[in-house]
Amino acid sequence: MTEPMIFPSLEIPETLAAGPGPGNTDPRVLQAFANTGLADHMQADVLRGMIECKQMLRDLWGTSNTYTYGVGGTGFSGLDCMLNAILPGDSVVAFQNGTFSGIDAMTIRMKAATRAELAADAMNPQPASVTVIDVPHGESVSGKLVEQVLAEKKPKWAFMAHWETGSGRINDLKGFSDACVKHGVMGLIDAVSSLGIEDFSIDDYPGVAGWASCPQKGVLCLPLTYAPVSFTDSYIQTVRENGCHSYVHNPILEARHWGIVDGEDVAAGTYHRTHSGYAVAAFHEALRITLQHGRAQKARDYAFHEKALRDAVTAMGCDVTSNMTSLVVLNLPGDLAGREKELVGNCRAVGFGIWPTLSEPVQVRIGILNQITPAAITDIVNRFGKAMNDMGANVDLEAINALLDQHYTAALEPAE
Ligand SMILES: *Cc1c(COP(=O)(O)O)cnc(C)c1O
Repeated sequence: MTEPMIFPSLEIPETLAAGPGPGNTDPRVLQAFANTGLADHMQADVLRGMIECKQMLRDLWGTSNTYTYGVGGTGFSGLDCMLNAILPGDSVVAFQNGTFSGIDAMTIRMKAATRAELAADAMNPQPASVTVIDVPHGESVSGKLVEQVLAEKKPKWAFMAHWETGSGRINDLKGFSDACVKHGVMGLIDAVSSLGIEDFSIDDYPGVAGWASCPQKGVLCLPLTYAPVSFTDSYIQTVRENGCHSYVHNPILEARHWGIVDGEDVAAGTYHRTHSGYAVAAFHEALRITLQHGRAQKARDYAFHEKALRDAVTAMGCDVTSNMTSLVVLNLPGDLAGREKELVGNCRAVGFGIWPTLSEPVQVRIGILNQITPAAITDIVNRFGKAMNDMGANVDLEAINALLDQHYTAALEPAE
């Protein structure tokens, strides 16, 4: 018999998470996680916590949709649940303009493929019923484009990412919703990167039937918890009539544990799967933090600090191509152009966790999730400038810091 391999206990260092996600977890969330006692998934306070989370989620999403709850897992778990309403042979138009909407479009192709289409190319099916519209990296999906394609295709479903984190672009949600209403299409939105950052209410977008987000970006609850989802009654009716090929990620069945049964709120959830009291308590605290901050104020804070970061890297000679307020996507200037991966690697090696783009072209992504203070932005800017200088750039960090100071002191001065 060989000896079992037992490794030393795993230690993971604290890094500065300054990428597209995950964002830094608030100590209050970690405390809620660690202070929770062991309680089973049907214990009264766990069930009450889930009902309270459901109610807070409705405020965060800005909706009266009864079917609003969390899907255990990551962003793609919530997206999988939402996209499960798509059945083999369903007609779908998917707009893709970066890494994540590209993966979502693949999920859609897998779900809409007939058995023969799936067998023909199992890992990358190309079903005849799905149209994928490719929008170049760095560009947004426009309402005009959505209107054009939906008018021609008249599909059952249309899909788009609200904020495409791969390229840092905001897509036209209102244009998408309007086109869905006009052509009788059920819209599905990946709101993984926008929920908890932008101030929007999903009930203002009646063309969208299904929404999915994630725990680790705007909601800031990485201790792996819940991907928020919300579905309209017509979406739920469609699933009720046609079913879906999943028990666990079934949009109707998964809702039961959150106290949503047969389209109604009930006093306590019924068993769907074993939820963790630790996760429920952490998620509950994360939602409390965001609602206490206030959706509108939080959105303003992100926009204000993103502008400080954007102006600073622009002054360093970088070319910013994104328009999201939680993330800056940029090309390096002059001699450093083309060395984006190397710079990101150097930063990551010293615990400064920025990211390259995951699909071509290679760009640098710097995120500010839960880093919305002058001190945090100043730290990020200085680490980034130093990394550029270490590779031979000639960034005048003193001038850059003066610029940052100006941004922040001007904001503190009372308005005339
Ligand atoms: C991050 C992200 C995802 C994936 O989320 P995971 O939590 O990694 O599963 C999907 N879509 C968008 C737009 C994202 O930004």
